Amino acid sequence: MSEVEKINGATVLCRALKEQGVEYVFGIVGVPIIEVGMMAQMEGLKYIGMRNEQAACYAAQAIGYLTAKPAACLTVPGPGMLHCIGGMVNANENAWPVIVISGSMDLDSEQRGSFQECNQVAAALPFAKFSARPNSIERIPFFVEKAVRTATYGRPGAVYLDMPADFIRNSALSDKIQWPVPAPPPPRCTADDASIKKAIDVLFHAERPLIIIGKGAAYSGAEASIRQFIDTHQFPFLPTPMAKGVVPDDHPCCVGPARSRALLNADVILLLGARMNWMLHFGEAPRFNKDVKVIQVEIQPEEMHNNVASTVALSGDIDTIVKQMNGEIAKCPQKFVFSSETSWWQSLREKIAANAKSTQNQVDEDSPPMNYYNAFHEITKLLPQDYLLVSEGSNTMDISRTMFMNNYPRRRLDAGTYGTMGVGLGFAIAGALWCRDHSPQTRLVCLQGDSAFGFSGMEVETICRYNLPILMIVINNNGIAMGATQDSFDSAQEGDPTLNLMPTFLSPVSRYQEVMKAFGGVGWEVETREGLSVALKEALATQKPSLINCRINPSAGKKAQDFFWLTSKI
Ligand code: ADP
Repeated sequence: MSEVEKINGATVLCRALKEQGVEYVFGIVGVPIIEVGMMAQMEGLKYIGMRNEQAACYAAQAIGYLTAKPAACLTVPGPGMLHCIGGMVNANENAWPVIVISGSMDLDSEQRGSFQECNQVAAALPFAKFSARPNSIERIPFFVEKAVRTATYGRPGAVYLDMPADFIRNSALSDKIQWPVPAPPPPRCTADDASIKKAIDVLFHAERPLIIIGKGAAYSGAEASIRQFIDTHQFPFLPTPMAKGVVPDDHPCCVGPARSRALLNADVILLLGARMNWMLHFGEAPRFNKDVKVIQVEIQPEEMHNNVASTVALSGDIDTIVKQMNGEIAKCPQKFVFSSETSWWQSLREKIAANAKSTQNQVDEDSPPMNYYNAFHEITKLLPQDYLLVSEGSNTMDISRTMFMNNYPRRRLDAGTYGTMGVGLGFAIAGALWCRDHSPQTRLVCLQGDSAFGFSGMEVETICRYNLPILMIVINNNGIAMGATQDSFDSAQEGDPTLNLMPTFLSPVSRYQEVMKAFGGVGWEVETREGLSVALKEALATQKPSLINCRINPSAGKKAQDFFWLTSKI
């Protein structure tokens, strides 16, 4: 019989996290959680000290999305915990698992105006699937198991655990600690057979079918089953931004470049893990055909029929359901292939070709100064086959989505469902660790606008401290959407800048590469395509943290669009 020993709460917490399969902890330590950070490492959890809790929370949730297992975000009480709320909302809205753990005051100091006192369980509640404080050191593992299970089962999301300082500091007897069995991976639910048959029937009778692949499909790991479905039946498919690569962008059935036309004219849509929210224009006219039939595949039953009534609602796990469909179809003696000679395919191909031409016109525009298109053209020419792209900043993100090919699933992280700017450096740090530990052939590229870089710029120090081989490219137009020219900036500064400087302006003399150099990384500033190409070759050849400050025309923008983004007006 093993001897009874005393174990402090910090150790119990970290051991429980490890037992439940948590691999990474991102955070910023301070009273009373310094011991937790230290114990995390002693228990074999990888601890990454960040510079802002919000970025730490973004990093932890990116791990949740990439691995389907939650990482922890560790913070001090009060301000530290509250800084995380933006991160928790972002995780919840994107349906990504994350566990936020914050220290709080000693239990008997509650309601006394204690240092950094805050009702954190209540603060987290609107933005988390589960928010609780263990009621004893002995029961910490019970709460950790419940937190991990709740974060990952059903629609994934954020959870919160509150850790009073006396629980962290004090000890319990080892034979009194309740260790639950680690939560098994989430159940992969099937849909009912009748609905599977109906879905196949509706889809195979469509005149203008379309498959929309959402990031729920990427999270489900459904790439092989969806690929088999598309390869067999040759239906056009459209990935949402973070679902790019579930089926490679260069697949002949990808109609990403004909997005508006595909959405507008499809008569049947198979919706695989995407919500009919603002990103898909609520599924409504004039962006969609008003009579469109939707076959919805979704893990959260309450999401069914949201904004658009689905003709068939398949509730369960995407990978499992697509396999069910593949299995049902395999029983038919005749193989169904959607003909590439249909007027639907012709119309989509025509739009893809027109789009390629107008993109090429932008690429061919005279430079310097560069625009987004010719800068991205230079970059995409040189990138390796397998890269994980973090992309944010309005135009930088949107235009890169159309120009950067994703060949593999879960290789794009961006502002996502919540349109959150400032996620970039946290995502990049998590992504680089994931590449290092799980996919060494993948290169991390972080492409940001200069405004987006500013939200968490000090995380460059984190990148350099952990020596992460991140290639950052700041697409610098001196502003938010409409940037400052040197002349307009100078004349605005002549009077009172608070009255004269446009709210969209940022400094045109910013040398972001120097931030990277200040912490030991490598930096370049480029203004021409040739300069960008040379810098990029050098950056790709080194494993050091790198930053290219890529100056583009301050008034560069998107090419003409069929619809205004974010509105349904033509
Ligand atoms: P996108 O941003 O790509 O449009 P959304 O985040 O709007 O995607 O939607 C993703 C959807 O996928 C969510 O409604 C989520 O509940 C669902 N989902 C997540 N994991 C799974 C899964 N394994 N099986 C089915 N649906 C899933």
